[in-house]
Amino acid sequence: MRERFWERYPLHELTAEEWEALCDGCGQCCLLKLEDADTGQVAVLNVACELLDIPSCRCGDYANRFARVPGCTRLTLERVEQFRWLPHSCAYRRLYEGRKLAAWHPLNAGDDRRLRRKGIDVSSFAVSQREVPEEHLEDHIIAVLPIDD
Ligand code: SF4
Ligand code: SF4
Repeated sequence: MRERFWERYPLHELTAEEWEALCDGCGQCCLLKLEDADTGQVAVLNVACELLDIPSCRCGDYANRFARVPGCTRLTLERVEQFRWLPHSCAYRRLYEGRKLAAWHPLNAGDDRRLRRKGIDVSSFAVSQREVPEEHLEDHIIAVLPIDD
């Protein structure tokens, strides 16, 4: 990967490896969401996808994630509309919006200790989808995302 690529190149010029390396591993995009069909509002739950390994905030089967979880979406620059539901802290969203990576981002900090100390990752509060019956999902709403447009 090129030195400090996240500061020197726009998103569309990143290599596949650099694109992957941008992910800070927070796991926030793996939290389940409920969309209100009438208002378009998106509620975020503290319930993580069944494949997320919560302590590490890593996907339990990254290579096969799309086959295993139909709702899992590939994050690409072309699918900009999806940036709406990503957290403001997300590296892809930050760079897309012209912001810089945070000082706590592993690429800046060298590892994920600062990210974890600041509670950016979901390991301290997420519960697995495997433990929450579907009829109880609404009890797990932790935020409702503002509608930007
Ligand atoms: S929210 Fe963004 S930075 Fe965090 S895990 Fe998902 S893609 Fe990576
Ligand atoms: S399949 Fe993996 S990457 Fe996709 S939402 Fe679930 S844990 Fe996250």
